[in-house]
Amino acid sequence: MICFSDNTIQSIFCCCCCCCSVQKRQVRTQFSLSKDEELSEKHPQHRRPWFSELPRTKQHHRSCVQPSTRKPLPPLPPSEDTEKKIYVKALYDFLPREPCNLALKRGEEYLILEKYNPHWWKARDHFRNEGLIPSNYVTENKLTNLEIYDWYHRNITRNQAERLLKQESKEGAFIVRDSRHLGLFTISMFVRARRSTHATIKHYQIKCNNSGQYYVAEKHLFQSIPELIHYHQHNAAGLMTRLRYPVGPMGSCLPATAGFSYEKWEIDPSELSFVKEIGSGQFGVVHLGEWRAHIQVAIKAINEGSMSQEDFIEEAKVMTKLTHSRLVQLYGVCIQHKPLYIVTEFMENGSLLSYLRERKGKLRKEMLLSMCQDVCEGMEYLEKNSFIHRDLAARNCLVNSACLVKISDFGMTRYVLDDEYISSSGAKFPVKWSPPEVFHFNKYSSKSDVWSFGVLMWEVFTEGKMPFENKSNLQVVEAISKGVRLYRPHLAPMSIYEVMYSCWHEVSVPNFLQSLADPSSDGRPDYYKHYPKTPSWQDKVSVSWW
Ligand code: ADP
Repeated sequence: MICFSDNTIQSIFCCCCCCCSVQKRQVRTQFSLSKDEELSEKHPQHRRPWFSELPRTKQHHRSCVQPSTRKPLPPLPPSEDTEKKIYVKALYDFLPREPCNLALKRGEEYLILEKYNPHWWKARDHFRNEGLIPSNYVTENKLTNLEIYDWYHRNITRNQAERLLKQESKEGAFIVRDSRHLGLFTISMFVRARRSTHATIKHYQIKCNNSGQYYVAEKHLFQSIPELIHYHQHNAAGLMTRLRYPVGPMGSCLPATAGFSYEKWEIDPSELSFVKEIGSGQFGVVHLGEWRAHIQVAIKAINEGSMSQEDFIEEAKVMTKLTHSRLVQLYGVCIQHKPLYIVTEFMENGSLLSYLRERKGKLRKEMLLSMCQDVCEGMEYLEKNSFIHRDLAARNCLVNSACLVKISDFGMTRYVLDDEYISSSGAKFPVKWSPPEVFHFNKYSSKSDVWSFGVLMWEVFTEGKMPFENKSNLQVVEAISKGVRLYRPHLAPMSIYEVMYSCWHEVSVPNFLQSLADPSSDGRPDYYKHYPKTPSWQDKVSVSWW
């Protein structure tokens, strides 16, 4: 029996991916306990040939050969040297930016010599050249790691998969992606119906039976997903056509790196060129520009007196190290120059708010949901890194050329020098995105970010409406305090509205004040205890689709 998801797979999305990742880890553990892996773990190859011409499967078997007539020798003790070696495969090309960098060529293998920090590693290529590489450009080169296969896309939604395959527009073009069913995988494939020009995208869920075998057609079972894909690349065996062309993520834009190089947060202004003005905001004008004439960047020129610059520069050193596919990367700052320049990743489609408004009526609900999911992933990363956004809203998210949404301006309100913006009674204070403890007591936390996330979901599902459209900030404070909440956008089914609504649990003022006075709290109010029901990014938020 073939399971395909066009209509039959119930779509579920995990708003915050922690649960998914737990499930994925479990699945990967299962892979590594497949028979071949067990053997290779028991009998590690002690002298792994560098860049051997042998296909990996052969290497594998060779390491498992036992002398047949003699009593098998006990396995050799693992040598310190080989035990720790990490081999990686480049997912993207990387051109050296500094003399200390090493060039990466997509698909090639490298040996990791040292991890300088989570983002920059020292590596050696097969010519024995050594240098620093961005860690997000490589992945561990082992057969059980799906990322080494050019058909696997980790961070892609059903919607994005369909768009990618339609662009390719080739019979049998396919990808494998993480399914919305936690811990499972889906094959998405471009097919044309027989005797028709009409093309469709089929989604086949890869199932796993009780013995840990994978299948899309029950008759054909495999120990691992790569084996299953390999088989169906040669045999349709129940699929509409065989899997003909893997569509890799490689064509997509190169990911941003944590700074242009290791510990490089200060940028030389002579290496920047300005292309055109693309916007202006609280701090000043934003330009599209280029760094060293080949990397597109956004350059924000900070108006004199609009920011407490020294504090920001200190923080910028930390912020360049916040790297995630759903955060707008801060590359660095030009501090030797007036005005101060902040250099970030360039996002081709501008702010999420204008993106939604300009495409009113044209975005499918799946797309709206996947935008919320993008933001949720970025926020989960920020919280894990103990970073509070403080001004999460659609206007502070940006959209790139692949229509991925990324969070921008995180933490920046701390450096604004404008009373209208800082003071909760100021006209520019984002009251409509703030929970009561923020507009009453200036108490920011990841929980207050959760409240703002609920409002952002509402903005997305109203295609960019202003929350509490006809109310002043003061009226909103009164309304929220009385328990009034934003209404359900007509594009949001009940299940989606429940998620946004659950972000708006109020901590009551008496409870909050009581927690301030609580002697057991050691002077520090444990006000989170009044938030028992507010979902955090780590909670599992599964939404049944309409
Ligand atoms: P501020 O933080 O000073 O208020 P914003 O970050 O909101 O300024 O930027 C103002 C506008 O500039 C945005 O609405 C967007 O249109 C454009 N912009 C800002 N940063 C980028 C970027 N990284 N890529 C593309 N456009 C950007």
